[in-house]
Amino acid sequence: MKKEKKKILFVASEADPFIKTGGLADVAGSLPQALIEEGHDVRLVIPQYKQIPEKYQQRMESVCHFRTKLAWRDTYLGVNKLEEDGVTVYFIDNKHYFDRDSIYENEDKHEQFAFFSQAVLDMLPVIGFKPDVIHANDWQTGPLPLLFADRYRQQSYYQDIKTVFTIHNLRYQGQFAGHAAGDVLGVAPHHWESGNIRHNGLLNYMKSGIMYADHVTTVSESYANEIQTSYFGEGLDYALRLRADDLSGILNGISYEKFDPETNENLPVSFSKGEIDKKIANKVHIQQKLGLEVDADKPLIGFISRMVEQKGLDLVKAVFDDIMATGAQFLILGTGQREYEEFLKAKQHEYPDNLSVNIKYDAQLADQIYAGSDMFLMPSRFEPCGLSQLISFRYGTIPVVRETGGLNDTVVAYNEETGEGTGFSFSNYNAHDMLHTIERAVSFYYKKGIWNKIVNRVMNLDYSWHNSAKKYSELYHELTGSPEQKLLQQGDESEVQVKIYQPETKGETAATTDKININQASTSELSELPGIGNAYAERIIDYRDQNGDFTKKSDLTKVKGIGKKKYQKISKMLTL
Ligand code: ADP
Repeated sequence: MKKEKKKILFVASEADPFIKTGGLADVAGSLPQALIEEGHDVRLVIPQYKQIPEKYQQRMESVCHFRTKLAWRDTYLGVNKLEEDGVTVYFIDNKHYFDRDSIYENEDKHEQFAFFSQAVLDMLPVIGFKPDVIHANDWQTGPLPLLFADRYRQQSYYQDIKTVFTIHNLRYQGQFAGHAAGDVLGVAPHHWESGNIRHNGLLNYMKSGIMYADHVTTVSESYANEIQTSYFGEGLDYALRLRADDLSGILNGISYEKFDPETNENLPVSFSKGEIDKKIANKVHIQQKLGLEVDADKPLIGFISRMVEQKGLDLVKAVFDDIMATGAQFLILGTGQREYEEFLKAKQHEYPDNLSVNIKYDAQLADQIYAGSDMFLMPSRFEPCGLSQLISFRYGTIPVVRETGGLNDTVVAYNEETGEGTGFSFSNYNAHDMLHTIERAVSFYYKKGIWNKIVNRVMNLDYSWHNSAKKYSELYHELTGSPEQKLLQQGDESEVQVKIYQPETKGETAATTDKININQASTSELSELPGIGNAYAERIIDYRDQNGDFTKKSDLTKVKGIGKKKYQKISKMLTL
């Protein structure tokens, strides 16, 4: 049966090729096309920063402009658009907010992105495109689901629209002084008082998105589970546990057109699957270009990354000389924290023939490193998805990774017994575990029969957007569904939208306490457990009142609305 075409508005603070500071731009710049290929009408909206290159600014045509109110402020709101790669892209124009020297580092960024989020909602009735789903991304668009719940959903034009919020990196949350909730967002006080938009006494844009979107996704299944724990939760794990029923992970893809070893013009020698000798020609080229000893037989490790703690640089630092002692060459590209940049630059002098440290952002050099390296190192402390390991696969470069987040979901550790695997990995965040894994990878590098098999295998993997777009498509269908499904969802919605919990520590306590006895628990005790909520707690207690004590836990499936899946989730926290 052919599925209905949905109208999707993808909302992001950056998108390739217009404006890019990180991975979000890659996603916003390529997922909409993949969703269009799935048959949907997908449009994108971003702020009209002055940094967007002139060639795009010139192609924009005006859609509309009017004045709107941001709390008490009367402000201009312009909407321009252009078409790029088959996607209609809207640009929110307001010189006061987006004609700045910096994209994100402005003192009033809370106001800039409150304006952006609200402008997206305000423009809808005027632009002639009414989405079935608004898909917001990261903290900059966190206010959108909140504003929607506060004062848009109540209007007939908006009432059928669903919101999805995707977390690309939970570490960056957008935290501001609390008065902005009223003064800038202009939302009713109960959102703050309930704790739904507050964390550690601050207004939290990320949390606003998490608490109010109809569905929350993040960019890998492992990260979706990890962020519900205190180690990875960046303080918001309790909020994510509260939304556990509406939280899922969908892996990012990469553009297989952009990262194509057969056509990428940045590569000195193009190559395709099976052409390992041509890959080696790229290695020799990069050795020459960066002044390393030219030796086609030496293992070459690539590392391209923002130089921040997340990426495992403290591990690299701790055993740096041991890594060099493996006899491999090490090629580093990135910018970031000074501490790491300085350390690596100093090391450069010690290993002139085998180490190349490049402190800059250089997309062309990055492509050449991906293509010329034998291995690619990613010892991340956490990694929501990670694109570099996927790009490495595309170029026949074998990832050496820590088993976390998206790395865990995409790299299969090489198994000597079965010969299976697509990379090398270690589990604990520990410098010596990383070192041993590098040593192991280097030892297999010299077993050419085995190594070349792995290289060929990873070049045959498919991490293009196709599979991920299918999953987003399913999600949009589930959310907007058939009329009967819609009724069912509305029945559940009270649980989602009006989920009010008081002190922030409460959720934390609930999730870490021992199992709760279903025959003794009160409604409020049950309702605090992640995945239960008020509505289900009441149904459980009603069932108990009518049928007497539960004699076996599986009788929970007789409670209205508790299916097999829900039962599996909640039964772990309950006892008789
Ligand atoms: P994150 O989004 O956390 O930075 P990802 O692995 O998801 O990490 O994406 C990083 C992307 O940025 C990759 O495509 C990587 O090649 C690229 N990149 C990072 N640093 C540089 C750099 N200095 N020069 C060129 N590309 C870079």
